[in-house]
Amino acid sequence: MIHPTPRVRFAPSPTGYLHVGGLRTALYNYLFAKKNNGTFILRIEDTDRNRYVEGAVENLITTLKWIGLNYDEGPDNSGEYSPYYQSQRLNIYKEYANVLLTQKNAYRCFCTAERLTQLREAQQKEKHQAKYDKHCLNLTQEEIDNKLETDTPFVVRLNVPEKKTIKFDDVVRQHIEFSSDTVDDQILIKSDGYPTYHLANVVDDHLMKITHVIRGEEWLPSTPKHVLLYDFFGWERPVFAHLPLLLNPDKSKLSKRQGDVAVEDYRGKGYLKESLINFVALLGWNAGDDREFYYLNELEEHFSLERVNKSGAVFNVEKLNWLNFEHLRQKPVSEVLLMLKEELSKTKFGKNVYTDNYLIQVIDAMRERVSFVKEYAEKSPYFFEAPEEYDTDIIKKRWKDDSPALLKKLADNISEFQANASKDDFEHALHKTAEEAGVGAGKLIHPVRLAASGMGVGPGVYDLLVVLGKDEVVKRINTAIEKIKI
Ligand code: GLU
Repeated sequence: MIHPTPRVRFAPSPTGYLHVGGLRTALYNYLFAKKNNGTFILRIEDTDRNRYVEGAVENLITTLKWIGLNYDEGPDNSGEYSPYYQSQRLNIYKEYANVLLTQKNAYRCFCTAERLTQLREAQQKEKHQAKYDKHCLNLTQEEIDNKLETDTPFVVRLNVPEKKTIKFDDVVRQHIEFSSDTVDDQILIKSDGYPTYHLANVVDDHLMKITHVIRGEEWLPSTPKHVLLYDFFGWERPVFAHLPLLLNPDKSKLSKRQGDVAVEDYRGKGYLKESLINFVALLGWNAGDDREFYYLNELEEHFSLERVNKSGAVFNVEKLNWLNFEHLRQKPVSEVLLMLKEELSKTKFGKNVYTDNYLIQVIDAMRERVSFVKEYAEKSPYFFEAPEEYDTDIIKKRWKDDSPALLKKLADNISEFQANASKDDFEHALHKTAEEAGVGAGKLIHPVRLAASGMGVGPGVYDLLVVLGKDEVVKRINTAIEKIKI
């Protein structure tokens, strides 16, 4: 069936932070909805009370909003199918579990933890797959009634048919078949009365009219159980699309051990939302060409599920860094200015006052050299305070016996400038000084850079000097002559 307006959902279990894999799932759902004039829904799958983390949902919503993935329906955004917290829908799941019980497509299991452990151990010994042995499926109605009367704890299990092939289609992985004999009689309702993910997820996807289930490949083994549930209830299945695994560069599964996986950690490190979105979009998708730089609105235009690939996507931090550099470079200076001020306020330079005009010149001088806003202060602290020390290696290499005298002459020439001297003025002064002294320009370029910045690298030397301005340059030359001893 063709769905006129797709409805898709991001259905995280709040565990405390948004994982980059979760961001990829959210993004692909969002993009699919945007591309197809559909609806993007946020549903909180919080039925596992053991994993409940205080503040996790708020944190997740804050991160999604920061990054710009706004949902049409969700917890704080009352939609037609609310509530969007599964913990507020418990009665619904019970009702549907009862339907399955009546149909005998589910059954109550009263087995004790000890019996289940024994069963598992025996199966392990025999090298058989650990699976429930349907023991309670054979209880008589009388036995069941007796146990219920004596309040014996029970779970509700899915009655997976034996010796059947469970088939379904997936947009990414095409046709998939599972033998039902490999599928466990999944618990649908736990002994505390809470549903498991499988039941709640399928019931909600149906009731919320979800047309496409787009989620990570780790959920693929759950899909046969879900397919059985759809079929037992007589509901139309959604279209499935399982997104490829995220891998570390060594091809192991992306894990916390090898680096950051929380979106907020990347945010904290100064990555821009634009580059995170761009980077995550390319983890398993491309438009069929080698284009790599995208804004969110462009992705909305270009995205298609058909172009999601099967093979695992390697999480390459260098690429993320490159994208951050590019996105920062493309930003209007007015925006970078605001970010720079904010960043400076967190550093030791926060107490100093700089004019917007000055900071804009710093941004222009450094733009090609920074990947993060914080690098303005890290890589070019000399724009914010005069150097207190000078790089000893550079002194050794570049500061010669005649450097102080040459720099003195240069300072004299610079002193004659008008207040608003240009880059050309600095260049002319330097060449004039070198010519008059009968030396090459290099004899001045390196020492003046060292005097002005304390370092041997940075923007073009005339860019550096013009930003600092005539008075500051003269002052720094004089200080260097005094301080640098060889
Ligand atoms: N609650 C599941 C998760 O945490 C949702 C999986 C799905 O999208 O079906 O990822």
